[in-house]
Amino acid sequence: MGYKSISLKMPTGYSEDSLSKKIKGIVKTGNFSYSIERKSLDARKKSNIHWELKIIVSSNDIKQEPSQKIPELELIYRKRNKRVIVVGSGPAGFFAAYVLQKSGYNTMIIERGTEVGKRTIGISKFESTGIFNPVSNYAFGEGGAGTFSDGKLTSRSKRISLEKKFILKSYVEAGGPKEILYMTHPHLGSDNLKIIVKNLRHKFEYEGGTILFETQMKDIHVNNGKVTGISTNHGDFDADYFFIAPGHSSYDTYRLLISKGVLFHSKNFAIGSRMEHPQELINIAQWGRSSLPGVKAAEYRLTSKGENREHVYSFCMCPGGVIVPASATSDTSVVNGMSRYMRDNKFANAACVATINIGRMLKKEVSAIKTIDWLEDLERKFYKFTDGFTIPGCTISDFISGNLTGNLSDFSYPLGVTQAPLWELLPGNVQTAMREGLKDFCNRMNGFETGNIMGLESKTSAPIQVERDKQGLCIGFNNLYVIGEGSGFAGGIISSAADGIKSAISIVS
Ligand SMILES: Cc1cc2nc3c(=O)[nH]c(=O)nc-3n(C[C@H](O)[C@H](O)[C@H](O)COP(=O)(O)OP(=O)(O)OC[C@H]3O[C@@H](n4cnc5c(N)ncnc54)[C@H](O)[C@@H]3O)c2cc1C
Repeated sequence: MGYKSISLKMPTGYSEDSLSKKIKGIVKTGNFSYSIERKSLDARKKSNIHWELKIIVSSNDIKQEPSQKIPELELIYRKRNKRVIVVGSGPAGFFAAYVLQKSGYNTMIIERGTEVGKRTIGISKFESTGIFNPVSNYAFGEGGAGTFSDGKLTSRSKRISLEKKFILKSYVEAGGPKEILYMTHPHLGSDNLKIIVKNLRHKFEYEGGTILFETQMKDIHVNNGKVTGISTNHGDFDADYFFIAPGHSSYDTYRLLISKGVLFHSKNFAIGSRMEHPQELINIAQWGRSSLPGVKAAEYRLTSKGENREHVYSFCMCPGGVIVPASATSDTSVVNGMSRYMRDNKFANAACVATINIGRMLKKEVSAIKTIDWLEDLERKFYKFTDGFTIPGCTISDFISGNLTGNLSDFSYPLGVTQAPLWELLPGNVQTAMREGLKDFCNRMNGFETGNIMGLESKTSAPIQVERDKQGLCIGFNNLYVIGEGSGFAGGIISSAADGIKSAISIVS
């Protein structure tokens, strides 16, 4: 059997039949099978939007040498008689626990939120009543912030290619679409994620792992640089190793870790608001037409740099998606975006954020704890403004002009939008930078100024970073790891999960 790697261009609405015919024309035989290695949309020229495909064709009629085997993450099972507690069932905590359990550790996950079924009910009740549920919300519960997320699986880091492959394969084995293995912009959607996290939990339990829901770590017992145990609302637990994967919304967990001597420092992050447009407007701006066969919805990615102001960029664009209330507590207001696999909602949303260097902004050194306090105060300010989870918003052109016209158009956010001078609620330097950034965006996309902008987006990445050594151990501790987005070393589903895997592997000897 020989293999041949070929690159092809195909029209957006191509059929499997037409692809097979094209391959046959190239390899000059009808006796072959093929697999797609990479698929990306080239939309640079509106008159010639097409898929770029890299395909591996295998056939007895092909004489080339077999292709090189791409390395895989190898996990060797050995009974290790060591107990591990992982706090948090998000991508970082789950994948750390999964790898450890598969390698022979006795692993238990503790999750403050509910399992995904209850969580789905909790979130839908929240969105219909506005009554917040502290254990079933967009931040907390099975699968962490990653479950009711948009499920974009992009990550640009080359250092995590083995881990990324393992994560994507695990998602496919748990029911995810196979295309995530080769799309350059893979996307699961929250409908798939709900099923996947449950199936992954069953696999973890089948391997012998334990998971406790609605169980919150409330205290950590430390003796001489060693964590000896943790206290939860369901009793105390001890273990040999502790992996804390709290995400970046769990401010009480951050405060607990800091009070126990875990070292964190402030880092750069970004804040802003969510922009929203009719998806059709974005399709026309990007493709020159309202729809394209074989492609779900158009995306965009915009950046704007200017002198003497912070960098502004669009973040976490959700084509065909909705804006959601992503608060982690009952008195803070935060928005985020998500979509279903089909990306078939009539709106497109994305964050518009400006970078924050808190020390530069406040003109003093700011400790990790003060940074958390500052961010939480801002999230509370947005809550207090409407006295609930209704969010302030205006049109993009109002934000730019600083003049509220009251022309807000239709929106997807489920708990209502109050027309307000949104810019006044944001810190001065963020306001100025966003205004300039939005002007730039409007110059680049037709009709962009007619969109809405709303709420507070404060969760692009963690505002603080843990201090850890080369093995990933928290400085000053010999069995404690803080991993994933909450560590400040990762952001997003793939990099958080990969950070969990790398940290777990560091103890597998
Ligand atoms: C609406 C939305 C859309 C998003 N869309 C995308 C996207 O498309 N692509 C992408 O890459 N990223 C997306 N993200 C971000 C992504 O979800 C996170 O980067 C990722 O989930 C971080 O993983 P993590 O495991 O580090 O933390 P998390 O997923 O935040 O998980 C942390 C878990 O720890 C638990 N926990 C915290 N403290 C305790 C405690 N004391 N005791 C017990 N349990 C505790 C929490 O309940 C939570 O379940 C989105 C986020 C949201 C909210």
